[in-house]
Amino acid sequence: MRIDRIALNGFRNYEWETADFGPGTNVITGPNAQGKTNLLEAVYMLSAGRGFRTRFDRELIGFGFSAAEILAECESHGRQQSIRILMQPGAPKKIQVNGVKKSAGELSAVLNTVLFCPDDLNLIKEGAAVRRRLLDNAISQIRPRYAEILAEFNRLYEHKSRILKDWREKPSLLDTLDEFSDAMARASAHLIRYRASYAERLNAAAAPIHREFSGEGEALSLRYSTVSTVKDPGASVREIYYDVCEHQEKHRQAELDAGQCLTGAHKDDLEIGVNGRPARSFASQGQTRTAALSIKLAEREILMAETGEAPILLLDDVLSELDTRRQEFVLNRIGGGQTLITCCEDEGISRRTGGKVLFVEKGKIKA
Ligand code: ATP
Ligand code: MG
Repeated sequence: MRIDRIALNGFRNYEWETADFGPGTNVITGPNAQGKTNLLEAVYMLSAGRGFRTRFDRELIGFGFSAAEILAECESHGRQQSIRILMQPGAPKKIQVNGVKKSAGELSAVLNTVLFCPDDLNLIKEGAAVRRRLLDNAISQIRPRYAEILAEFNRLYEHKSRILKDWREKPSLLDTLDEFSDAMARASAHLIRYRASYAERLNAAAAPIHREFSGEGEALSLRYSTVSTVKDPGASVREIYYDVCEHQEKHRQAELDAGQCLTGAHKDDLEIGVNGRPARSFASQGQTRTAALSIKLAEREILMAETGEAPILLLDDVLSELDTRRQEFVLNRIGGGQTLITCCEDEGISRRTGGKVLFVEKGKIKA
């Protein structure tokens, strides 16, 4: 799987620009605020249908432009494919693969990426939302159905949150509360089932990477945690649904009192342990980075096992944050696929990897 060429029209700070990528490592370099991460974000969009730094497509449209367009030529599943994404304010984005209209969720069947950015270095120490995002993004790429259920869940969550917040002023809102709670419990059950199974795979793949990475000395463990009444998150969706309902009934009054959703998959976490202790409380800076990296490389392995092809690895500004030994580990481990690395200075990465260098300045790309 690889991207050969991209054209950006009115996307972020790119007015009208094209770039050709090499099949191996591509080092995207240049001073701050020139468009390196924007270029990576455009490639990410081709696989995920959305940016990784914003919830709103309109922010991706260049200042003063009425639309943003990304065009790309890629090689995946043994053939050349073309992807086009067009974003216009106030209209749903248009996505085409080889000239045929597609949904954002369908892009993952064409192109897969694994992104590793500075935020991911906080994967271990930050709150659960970062780890849920990791699960959500990773599972959406291999299970498009998951992305649909997640979108539905988020919609229900927002609606139910509004009811719980406003019911005192408008008691009639309570008429639909139980209906929303039930729909949310159903969607939660599906999400929990998917997340439990992915967390198990991630644990199995990340532990050996981490063991090797840390010099055989350390044991990494990932454990999925969800609604407390769910006895077995690996059970059938129906059983999980009954367990979530049990929690829901017990907390109905508490939800009304607190004015917030207290039951559902929106509080899930992936508990990360190093040598049997919670990494969030005990891991050192170095252990935290090693664990975050191992998890990302494990995500890449799972995608490879699922699709039979190496996903495109997007490393945004992380190499400079890692010491030389960790850098070497990443660079050795990523062989066999295409990688796009951004950094302020090339730091010899292109020499060490034999990769192509793209220099970015003021939204212009020079190879
Ligand atoms: P750094 O090395 O600091 O990470 P970078 O090269 O990765 O820098 P980018 O994050 O790609 O920089 O951003 C480059 C510029 O794009 C920024 O100055 C930003 O303000 C600008 N920018 C972001 N969104 C838009 C937009 N919608 N339209 C025009 N410019 C934008
Ligand atoms: Mg950047």
